[in-house]
Amino acid sequence: LAKQNFRGTAVVFSAEHEAEINEQGRIQQALRAADFEKEMHLVFQPMVDADTNGIFAYEALARWESPVLGNVSPGVFIRAAERTGIIGRLTETLMQKALEAAQSWPDHIRLSVNLSTRDVVSNRTVDALLEIIARSGIDPARLDIEVTETAVMRNFALAADNIRRLAERGIGIALDDFGTGHSSLSYVHRLPLTKIKIDRSFIVDIATNELSRSIVKTIVDLSRNIGCVCIVEGMETHEQVAALRGLGCRMMQGYYFARPERLEDTLAYRAPSDTIVNVPARKTG
Ligand code: C2E
Ligand code: MG
Ligand code: MG
Ligand code: MG
Repeated sequence: LAKQNFRGTAVVFSAEHEAEINEQGRIQQALRAADFEKEMHLVFQPMVDADTNGIFAYEALARWESPVLGNVSPGVFIRAAERTGIIGRLTETLMQKALEAAQSWPDHIRLSVNLSTRDVVSNRTVDALLEIIARSGIDPARLDIEVTETAVMRNFALAADNIRRLAERGIGIALDDFGTGHSSLSYVHRLPLTKIKIDRSFIVDIATNELSRSIVKTIVDLSRNIGCVCIVEGMETHEQVAALRGLGCRMMQGYYFARPERLEDTLAYRAPSDTIVNVPARKTG
């Protein structure tokens, strides 16, 4: 195996590279053969209003238990699904499952679903999702779709067109992992965004790093200026929660509040303070 390096001369792949490629191959093969209905499930992580400790939304996160490979992380299998061209079908299955789960929640709890880079630029996938959402009977205004900054920037015209079509139905649009991609603020202004999610990488050292603090402050202000709700991801400690509240951020998500859990487990969720927060009612029957 060889490929061109940046000078145009051929370089031979190392053993590790080859192992990695074989691994990708095995993942793609298992994914093509996978029964999504059986092998894929969702876990749900709450988004919490730190002022009240009340849950206002759950983000659906995909999990794959492959009978061949065991558990594969979404960071890996989503990319593999994109490469094998089956991401659209996978996203549709996951959307279906997420909407089914949300049926049993109280009306004030929102559902947030992630789209991949490919999904955002696929008119066909977005058409299919709109159809699935319409058929589910869920109020589209209760739904948020998360798209990453990187996905949007890769093909802005196509992504923006699809995002507008979703927004026209009343679906909320969240810009995920904000701050990690090459975003242009002028582009942010041109999208019908309702939420901005600040990436976890800015939170890790928030208590000690002045730069992280000022970046977060800037994003919080930007969100306010364009009328978006700002959510911080990856909150793990009390210190981080205190620091973020000091910066004017109220909506949070992270292990400090709850890990992503199977739906049955989210029903028993308690805040770290042991205050019981609003949880979806258990589905009867
Ligand atoms: P994301 O959408 O930004 O999701 C947040 C990730 O951070 C999740 O990882 C979540 O489990 C993790 N996380 C949440 N709170 C904390 C925390 O306090 N500390 C730390 N260290 N991590 C935290 P996960 O579930 O492994 O997902 C990784 C990424 O894979 C997601 O990032 C998303 O981009 C993608 N993904 C997951 N599910 C789906 C899906 O159904 N569809 C698509 N297209 N992508 C998905
Ligand atoms: Mg997300
Ligand atoms: Mg994120
Ligand atoms: Mg992330």
